[in-house]
Amino acid sequence: MARYRGPVCRLCRREGMKLFLKGERCYKEKCAIERRNVPPGQHGAGRRRKVRAYGLQLREKQKVRRVYGLLEGPFRRTFGEASRRRGVTGENLLQLLELRLDSVVCTLGFAVSRSQARQLVRHGHIQVDGRRVDIPSFRLKPGMVVSVKEASRKIKHVGESMEFAQGRGIPSWLELDVANSAGTVVEAPTRDEIRVPIQEQLIVELYSR
Ligand code: SF4
Repeated sequence: MARYRGPVCRLCRREGMKLFLKGERCYKEKCAIERRNVPPGQHGAGRRRKVRAYGLQLREKQKVRRVYGLLEGPFRRTFGEASRRRGVTGENLLQLLELRLDSVVCTLGFAVSRSQARQLVRHGHIQVDGRRVDIPSFRLKPGMVVSVKEASRKIKHVGESMEFAQGRGIPSWLELDVANSAGTVVEAPTRDEIRVPIQEQLIVELYSR
């Protein structure tokens, strides 16, 4: 499955904000945005551009793609599905992205970042309702239980990231069972429960052009 493999802090610097792509480091002073919040590239610091409406819409779309680690094709397909659903397209889009297996694994704290969560899923460490699922884009539904395979619970970074995640707090649409390294999707998240700082309406405007 294709994905971005370049330096991730560069993506945050391009958007001028923290996208929390690296886990613990994002909360420390070492974060590139804390140290030097300028766009990447030789002339990044001196670049002054007038941003038009299209530019704002494009940047918002890129931010969401980068936060969830999606390339353009899968993102576009998810948007298509969101627009065919009832309700507000922007909210539907974020809801569908949040309900991806890799995203839920990260939110539950089994991994410190979505990229690490994706790797856990791809390597077969994650189960849904007791069965191995190795597809990061697998869509979860309310009532489904996501767990770390028993043999994989000893993985050092799984334990560490769960401790770290508990400090951050788990959203109310998920229920975490720390003792069994498992979590239940209680309900689909509402917009208020999605912490991503995005103006999703701009993405809808971009794709409606
Ligand atoms: Fe972004 Fe995290 Fe890198 Fe900071 S440390 S620039 S938030 S990926």
